[in-house]
Amino acid sequence: MTERIQPVPAVAGELARAEPRAAVPQLEGWGRIPAPGRETLTEDLARATQGAVLSRGLGRSYGDSSLPAAVDDKVVGTRFANRILSFDETTGVLRAEAGFSLVELNRLFISRGFFSPVTPGTQYVTLGGMVASDVHGKNHHVEGCFGRHVKSLRMRLADDTIVDCSPTELPDLFWGTVGGMGLLGHILEVELTMHRIASPWIWMESQRVPNIDAFLVALGKSAPAWPMTMGWIDCLNRGRSMGRGILMAGRWAEPGEAPSAPPKVAKKKTIPVDFPNFALNNFTASLFNTAYYWKHVRKEWKGVVGPDPFFYPLDAILQWNRGYGSRGFTQYQCVLPRAGGPEMVREFMQLLTKLGGASPLCVIKDCGPEGQGVLSFPLEGTSIAIDMAVSPGLQKIIDSLNEFVIAAKGRMYLTKDRFTRAEHFRAMEPRLPRFLELREKWDPKRRLRSAQSVRLFGDSA
Ligand SMILES: Cc1cc2nc3c(=O)[nH]c(=O)nc-3n(C[C@H](O)[C@H](O)[C@H](O)COP(=O)(O)OP(=O)(O)OC[C@H]3O[C@@H](n4cnc5c(N)ncnc54)[C@H](O)[C@@H]3O)c2cc1C
Repeated sequence: MTERIQPVPAVAGELARAEPRAAVPQLEGWGRIPAPGRETLTEDLARATQGAVLSRGLGRSYGDSSLPAAVDDKVVGTRFANRILSFDETTGVLRAEAGFSLVELNRLFISRGFFSPVTPGTQYVTLGGMVASDVHGKNHHVEGCFGRHVKSLRMRLADDTIVDCSPTELPDLFWGTVGGMGLLGHILEVELTMHRIASPWIWMESQRVPNIDAFLVALGKSAPAWPMTMGWIDCLNRGRSMGRGILMAGRWAEPGEAPSAPPKVAKKKTIPVDFPNFALNNFTASLFNTAYYWKHVRKEWKGVVGPDPFFYPLDAILQWNRGYGSRGFTQYQCVLPRAGGPEMVREFMQLLTKLGGASPLCVIKDCGPEGQGVLSFPLEGTSIAIDMAVSPGLQKIIDSLNEFVIAAKGRMYLTKDRFTRAEHFRAMEPRLPRFLELREKWDPKRRLRSAQSVRLFGDSA
């Protein structure tokens, strides 16, 4: 059966990005480092993407992947192209325009017993952005990345033709687009298979873990037992309690465990202005980390929680990126292969705490096997993501972390990146020649580009 459900226009404040700060038109990623340019917002992607060089969703990528390479580059903002085109409740197959947001998907479908097969840690993303970054979630070790659940894509290519692709139809275009950061074409429509959920509640168990070694053991035990796992770790503490944190594991609650009423959606708070740049420093970040660690008063906790606090704790405060001040920030996310063992993760943590620069936000995840997306981020191992404010020493910190990751045969995540050097990217990415071959085939004139593709893929500025 095919049901038509129309999303209501999303609450303006919820889907807003931080306001641009200068009179010169500029765009920002979530890390708030601006680039000159403007986006053409449209309800008609098929028309607006003609001659465009980049598509952009809700700008939740931290770095410069959704920013133009030059001020006059035509950038299409997709978030108003947000119609659901079809939904089949017997198969869970949903087709929607690329600008359809996850927050709308959750609002419409959780109460109907369906959820996205994979969700990142924010719901303020579009389907197009989820495909282009091939996002992963707390269930990567079980479900892989988002692209694995995509059945087909409608795309506008660099030569302005419109094509459909899927794992069986033009598979090279499909798997290059999944995780390809918008560089093979504009995604117009996405068809995916949703997951059925037993109730709109999550059964969660969390535990306080005293250091990184214990954390890796606990994470290793949780992954086979739970469909969703993830941890927060303290990236500032050194010595015996380096890498202490809170490990969370969860699954959708069975109807018998869940309250009969649906979870309430809490009213969102917002940060209305930029914090002063000095507000977040090593001292305040350490205080926050200590308080957050000990807020988990009991060593272990279990119970039922709503999907919002479980999947999207950061979304509780809109525009929380203003907390880093006008200087902006970045997120460094890397994955270290399992073959390197816990020693490698411990050494990474030692380097990170020695270099400094980390903020309270440091997330550790267990990744399952690598997927089919030519440039998809995860590989089997441990992923660590750290937010860092922009500072004079930041480039050196990122360089040192990247040198470690190259030696470890790991990789960093393009959708978070703003500071990696091209030579470091080439050294950590043996799949790059394959991706460049695909660009040669689908966009030989290199019409599609972003500030990131100029920085990392050698596109002309
Ligand atoms: C708080 C927070 C938590 C996050 N947690 C996670 C996480 O757990 N896991 C994870 O994987 N990611 C995570 N992310 C990153 C986020 O999921 C990705 O950056 C996602 O791509 C953002 O979607 P968007 O719609 O905002 O895309 P944008 O940021 O606007 O764009 C991202 C990329 O997608 C391309 N793109 C967007 N739309 C299209 C289109 N229609 N056609 C072609 N290309 C397109 C852009 O060109 C750009 O390269 C998180 C981000 C934040 C802010």
